[in-house]
Amino acid sequence: MSLLVKKLSVSYEDNGHALQALECVDFVAQKGRITALVGESGSGKTTLGKACMGLLPKNATVEGGITLGDKPLLGMTEEDLNKVRWSELAMVFQNGAANFNPVYTILDQVAEPLIQHRDMPKPQALELAGQALLEMGLKPEEHTRYPHQLSGGQVQRALLAMAQILDPGVLILDEPTASLDAMSKGFVSRAMVQNKEKGKAIFLITHDLELASQLADDLYVLYLGQVMEKMAGSELFSEPRHPYSLALARSFPSMETARDLGGIRGDAFYRLLHQHGHRNGTPHRHAHIASSEAGHEPGHAPPSGCLFHDRCTQAREDCRKGLVPLTGSNGRKVRCLRGGIVDLLDLKGIAHSYD
Ligand code: ATP
Repeated sequence: MSLLVKKLSVSYEDNGHALQALECVDFVAQKGRITALVGESGSGKTTLGKACMGLLPKNATVEGGITLGDKPLLGMTEEDLNKVRWSELAMVFQNGAANFNPVYTILDQVAEPLIQHRDMPKPQALELAGQALLEMGLKPEEHTRYPHQLSGGQVQRALLAMAQILDPGVLILDEPTASLDAMSKGFVSRAMVQNKEKGKAIFLITHDLELASQLADDLYVLYLGQVMEKMAGSELFSEPRHPYSLALARSFPSMETARDLGGIRGDAFYRLLHQHGHRNGTPHRHAHIASSEAGHEPGHAPPSGCLFHDRCTQAREDCRKGLVPLTGSNGRKVRCLRGGIVDLLDLKGIAHSYD
């Protein structure tokens, strides 16, 4: 089963103003693939996940379409959505422990969807829940603990066990590895790959660009509620095309990344991006997005033209006005009037000079 999002716009009513969290987003999480959504904080990632689950708050206005297989989700009654949630589409939210009820054991809670949705007798449901928890690396003596008696990593793994318990075709995971130890991160990553291999569609929302680049078959880069680029996960560090994707990749602190970006492509991109800015007399602006120089939050008055133009080293006058479409073939799309940095800077022709 695949999850298809078409021209989705979401705005929140915020003190009498409309805050545009998503703008005309097209997105697909295909079966048998891991699809990652990355972008800085506030870019609208969780909003997209919640919109798919029909769990946006009351102050949200939604336009566009969301389809699960052949079922349109937008406009579905709450009763019908409840039948779809857990059994066909499940989401693991950020802040694991907050998603469990503190007064029930995790075993009871992981068993609950089986009892509610499948009318399974409790003893059988508990047995299956126990197996699911074991598969996620939780020892039998941990199953009967309350959420506050588990570590963050154990809670996250228990949540993932619960999300998978009814074998839904689509799994949405919002920051599933945030603040996890290496072992828990390994379990969660393996679970994603195993689910993909079983033919599930995995929709991964993450700040962990390294994880996204390693696991994602498809990757979307979101900025101020717009998709700036769609690519293969493996291209995020090696061949980002949108200046924002490059800036995002460069802002990711890791030895691995530093090595990748120190390589020909990353380095050439970076140098050429800067040279280009100087050549054209545009003010030099460092592409690195440290938090101290973070750009806009989605707001009531987003910039006109390309939403990234005032942080971009290669912006021209026409980037400051009008709409910028997302163009390219199915696998690779970029929202840049200059065709992205590869075309503009002719990297392929020049990169070998850095060999
Ligand atoms: P993070 O990575 O920090 O989780 P995100 O990319 O998931 O961020 P969202 O949580 O989707 O971003 O938020 C997108 C924008 O919508 C932000 O500006 C946020 O403040 C705003 N927003 C989210 N929920 C609401 C709400 N209930 N009411 C008003 N504004 C909201």
